[in-house]
Amino acid sequence: RGKRAFIAGVADDNGYGWAIAKALAAAGAEIIVGTWVPALNIFETSLRRGKFDESRRLPNGSLMEISKIYPLDAVYDTPEDVPEDVKKNKRYAGSSNWTVKEVAESVKNDFGRIDILVHSLANGPEVTKSLLETSRRGYLAAISASSYSFVSLLQHFLPIMNPGGASISLTYIASERTIPGYGGGMSSAKAALESDTRVLAFEAGRKGQIRVNTISAGPLGSRAAKAIGFIEKMIDYSYSNAPLQKELLADEVGNTAAFLVSPLASAVTGSVVYVDNGLNTMGLAI
Ligand code: NAD
Repeated sequence: RGKRAFIAGVADDNGYGWAIAKALAAAGAEIIVGTWVPALNIFETSLRRGKFDESRRLPNGSLMEISKIYPLDAVYDTPEDVPEDVKKNKRYAGSSNWTVKEVAESVKNDFGRIDILVHSLANGPEVTKSLLETSRRGYLAAISASSYSFVSLLQHFLPIMNPGGASISLTYIASERTIPGYGGGMSSAKAALESDTRVLAFEAGRKGQIRVNTISAGPLGSRAAKAIGFIEKMIDYSYSNAPLQKELLADEVGNTAAFLVSPLASAVTGSVVYVDNGLNTMGLAI
């Protein structure tokens, strides 16, 4: 039987989530995705109109199929958590059942079980502010959207994951080395995500024989990264200073994710795996 993957954080064909979906589809997995509610409409429309057809193409020539797209807002766990202004917001009112608990229930009703859980989402409203200028509210929002969102997803999906399954998230080296410009508490959120990867690997391993790893990815000009403002600079910096002087392709992260959630990585859990052309290993830029 082929594996089934739920990928949270796909809203266009530029980011890591899309590349991971493709790598998993190429390896024979069934793909279902969770798309941020405010981005759902445009993603579905673009998909329907064939805007992504070229980038849906898999190595065997076929087009990646997405079995179902669920609206998701991973900062809310249950309907009771959703504030009135969000409920009434035009972009949210058009969709339903998009809190984490409800999405897990819908996936269970529609598909039964899954094997693979991918977390490819982050958000920090004050990311362009330095940590010294970050408000409590902004900091907690970054942690909520970028770190707790993974805890919540695993919490709610674990009961429907087949033993031997795996989850993966995306992190960034700003968690362990200072990257000026990656602010708003996003560096803190990635540090939490990496620490949680170790603790959740233990807990989900013991509870459900599920592996938990995270990929520390190099810079990619995704929609989220462009919002931070200095992504081109980071890409140039990486190109100049990394051991491998080549462009980092989203597919390279996708392929590593496919390996990590596959039986080929059956003894790998609780790890931070670098997919960054080796940039993290450098101590002196030359
Ligand atoms: P992306 O824009 O493709 O993905 C981010 C996604 O998160 C978007 O689809 C957005 O709609 C979604 N999202 C935001 N808030 C959400 C919420 N509350 N609920 C549900 N979805 C929400 O950009 P990306 O750069 O591919 O980001 C994917 C992951 O990769 C993130 O965790 C990011 O931090 C990480 N990462 C990115 C880079 C980079 O340079 N792009 C480097 C290292 C790690």
